[in-house]
Amino acid sequence: MRQGLSEDLIARVLGVAPKYTISELEEKFPPRDLPEGAMVTRFAPSPTGMMHLGGLYQALIDSKLAYDSHGVFMLRIEDTDTKREVVDAVTLIISSLKKFGIKYNDMPEYGPYYQSERRDIYHSVAAELLRTGRAYPCFLTADDMERIRSEQSAAGFATGIYGEFARDRDISAEEIIKHLDNGEMPTIRLYSTGDPAKRIFCKDAVRGSIGFPENNEDIVLIKSNDGLPTYHFAHLCDDHFMRTTHVIRGEEWLPSLPLHTQLFRMMEWTPPLYIHTSTIDKIDSETGKQRKLSKRKDPESNVAFFLQEGWPTMAVLEYLGNIAASGYEEAKLKGMVKTIWEYPIKPKKIPMSGALFDMKKLEWWAKEYIGAMAVPDLVKSVTDWANEYGDEKQKMQVADTDYLTAVLAIERDKPRRVRKDFITWSQTLEIVEFFWDELFVANTEYEYNRDVLKAFLETFDVADDKDTWWNKIVEIAGKFGIKNGDVAMNLRVALSGRTNTPDLYSIMQVMGGTRVTKRIKDLL
Ligand code: GLU
Repeated sequence: MRQGLSEDLIARVLGVAPKYTISELEEKFPPRDLPEGAMVTRFAPSPTGMMHLGGLYQALIDSKLAYDSHGVFMLRIEDTDTKREVVDAVTLIISSLKKFGIKYNDMPEYGPYYQSERRDIYHSVAAELLRTGRAYPCFLTADDMERIRSEQSAAGFATGIYGEFARDRDISAEEIIKHLDNGEMPTIRLYSTGDPAKRIFCKDAVRGSIGFPENNEDIVLIKSNDGLPTYHFAHLCDDHFMRTTHVIRGEEWLPSLPLHTQLFRMMEWTPPLYIHTSTIDKIDSETGKQRKLSKRKDPESNVAFFLQEGWPTMAVLEYLGNIAASGYEEAKLKGMVKTIWEYPIKPKKIPMSGALFDMKKLEWWAKEYIGAMAVPDLVKSVTDWANEYGDEKQKMQVADTDYLTAVLAIERDKPRRVRKDFITWSQTLEIVEFFWDELFVANTEYEYNRDVLKAFLETFDVADDKDTWWNKIVEIAGKFGIKNGDVAMNLRVALSGRTNTPDLYSIMQVMGGTRVTKRIKDLL
């Protein structure tokens, strides 16, 4: 530890007098009154304008752990990087969580939930560190640091501000005053007492205890340009005073774990239990190798992709849930649980590497999910999607709810034989396009048996029940000496343009007598 700073100097180096003492903060944000074992989690995205699939994965784990244990799940906006911020990025995060059905509790007592509104807290903690010689103001300029970095690289040393390279580590009050009088604004750095020759043991819920060399870098706690904290310092202050019990974050933070453990120990605060999630991977179509989803190459790395393409959000969640808790799929297939919300995610079992997210497998989850939907819910999902993301054509398809309902209800009445060809809302609308005259494209390639079609028209009555209707087809087949199926195929292609459709009788019932007759007549 070094010499602490006077209250007066603290206010000058921070640019503001600290508002609270640590004990006032402890009192303001007391330990939460929750049942034994309740987990407090938070999703802490930076508003960058895109939400990564890995973020959704973490938010799902966060919310499941909290709700399953009767705890609390918070959304905290990490908007301390003012350079990277994007307008509307927060709205995008909030609306994405909402669309995926991930709810967080809003508990104003432990807020605010935007880091940019928590300066008082960071400054108060920083003040305590300055007061007790565990932090110091550093006046190194960008140029100074660049010079130090190149000297270090040239000499083969680790880069960074540590030990003898930390010029201002032991700066005196007189020197501080000189810099301040000069109009310079310092960063606030940690006065690290770590020794890389020693090991620090840190806990990760999945990986167990991991030994790292101790951190000796005097990392920045508060930035000089805007007085906002770095991620490391905000994590310390926020997860302590928000009383977070479990931090679920990407494995890119694993190397920072010794630093974070050091910070919590220095404060004599209990650190949260960390769960570092693996990257979300795919099999590269060119190399055949498993690799991390790339923001640049893989549209599915962005959560917005699934919304725009009309993937059932619940199917995406189910699949992510099955990655986090691999027994889910089996439990669901056995009928033990219906949705991922009913199946527990166990921190220890969350995979620590190579979580594969395969679009083909997602199709399976989507088919299962849509297959189990009640018709009105299906209609609503398709309609809501088309109205928000669809093109003019798709909006037209959902305009008449009764017709759409009739179309989508085909082959869904027998629970054991529900059609499983719908995957996304947009693809669903595409499959059934032929029901709309404006979108129907006659199949001009098929070699129709015109006499068969004519014969059908002569006896067709839309009011016929299925048996009567079928008997007429059988009769026509007999008359022409062809198979029943050939008669049906002629009708199927004439009406839909396709050789593969759901139940033909239902199609005619939904289309109605006039449309059926007209389509066949037009063809003839
Ligand atoms: N803002 C950090 C990120 O987006 C949060 C990491 C964490 O959850 O602590 O990676």
